[in-house]
Amino acid sequence: MIEWSEQHQMIRDMVRRFVEAEIKPRLADFEHGDVPPYDVLRKMMAAFGIDEMARQRFQRQLEREKAAARGDAPAKTVRERTAEDVGMQLIPVIELCHYCPGMVTALGVSVGLTPAAIISRGTIRQKERWALPLLTLEKIGAWAITEPGSGSDAFGGMKSTARRNAEGYVLNGNKTFITNGPYADTIVFICKLDDGSDPKQRKVLSFVLDKGTPGLTQSKPMRKMGLHSSPTGELFLEDVHVGPERLIGETEDVPARAGAKQTFSQERTGVAAMALGMVEQCLALSVNYARTRIQFGRPIGEFQLIQLKLARMEVARMNLQNIIFRQIEMAAAGRRMGLAEASACKLYAAQAAVEVTLEAVQLFGGNGYMAEFQVEQLCRDAKVLQIYAGTDEIQVSQIARSLLTAGAV
Ligand SMILES: Cc1cc2nc3c(=O)[nH]c(=O)nc-3n(C[C@H](O)[C@H](O)[C@H](O)COP(=O)(O)OP(=O)(O)OC[C@H]3O[C@@H](n4cnc5c(N)ncnc54)[C@H](O)[C@@H]3O)c2cc1C
Repeated sequence: MIEWSEQHQMIRDMVRRFVEAEIKPRLADFEHGDVPPYDVLRKMMAAFGIDEMARQRFQRQLEREKAAARGDAPAKTVRERTAEDVGMQLIPVIELCHYCPGMVTALGVSVGLTPAAIISRGTIRQKERWALPLLTLEKIGAWAITEPGSGSDAFGGMKSTARRNAEGYVLNGNKTFITNGPYADTIVFICKLDDGSDPKQRKVLSFVLDKGTPGLTQSKPMRKMGLHSSPTGELFLEDVHVGPERLIGETEDVPARAGAKQTFSQERTGVAAMALGMVEQCLALSVNYARTRIQFGRPIGEFQLIQLKLARMEVARMNLQNIIFRQIEMAAAGRRMGLAEASACKLYAAQAAVEVTLEAVQLFGGNGYMAEFQVEQLCRDAKVLQIYAGTDEIQVSQIARSLLTAGAV
């Protein structure tokens, strides 16, 4: 793939019109965190048939799994997505990130990471009960691994526990920085089985929890530097009693560590489209400003130091777009990026977004520091890309470990 197809461009224009009509005029409300993003996201999904497509894809997949379970057909996953389809899924991400990257985070966790964790390891019953309403955003989802004492070392420092009892399990623990935590209807809670063994060796288990479960408290949204259209919160679990039907896979032998790593890979892959949206918007705003802002009697775009900034922004935009094209081609070929490649893409994308948004603030001078000109918001939002889904430092070590273990130079 070397460029967006005509159909992609047509959809992009339609999504852009939606974002400019529904989100841009209310940006201040979303960005003050006063208005949760879910209603407008549901409206967008309905307007473009994204919810219906997700429902149909899910039902086809489930029918195949049921047939396979009955022994009627091979359990093979049929490859359904063309480059057109994958592109269609990424375009709303890119367009939303022109204004509200936080919405993409809230949406991605709710319709992406959370149901994916259930679909990849859950039973058919669990998928029907919890995954479908998440895929359509009828329900809001959260995926909770981070704790006050464990972030980068998510498994090593994990203190949340599941203890067996006669009815199933008793869950305890605190989770923090959880996207959609304050509003989530369905939560994937990751913890360790407390069977008295060495904590480092304990099995990792994932449970599905519903809002309102006795013993579960969801905090208010936390105050933060940016990404205000994505509510982030804490979860407190105190003796939460659950039956075995809430354990993903309904067996303790599900490889939950591998499942969580697959989720990391998925999260990381998604960052490039977010970065592209932010970079596109900063570049468009900066070019316009460089043409119209007059200093020393001429547009600032005539100064070579300003030209250098624009040129570097364009290089970042091209690189990010090429990463996206590769992702589209891989997904259409039924291939997933390995963790090291996803880490490399994430590292580059996050750093490019931070560099470009900071340079945009600089190009705008004093106006760049003012909220009115939007680059200030994008700059604060971009910073999180270097932190969540694994920090830059963790991506570096992941890439290096892969190189060193493969013996490559
Ligand atoms: C807005 C937002 C949304 C989030 N959403 C979610 C969510 O939905 N679900 C969820 O579970 N989590 C979520 N997180 C948590 C996020 O994944 C963690 O913040 C992130 O993994 C980093 O962990 P930490 O904050 O504990 O930092 P730490 O792990 O304490 O890191 C502190 C510093 O030490 C560095 N460091 C740590 N280990 C190493 C090492 N081995 N080598 C070199 N440097 C190292 C880090 O890179 C960092 O610079 C979210 C975070 C934010 C900010």
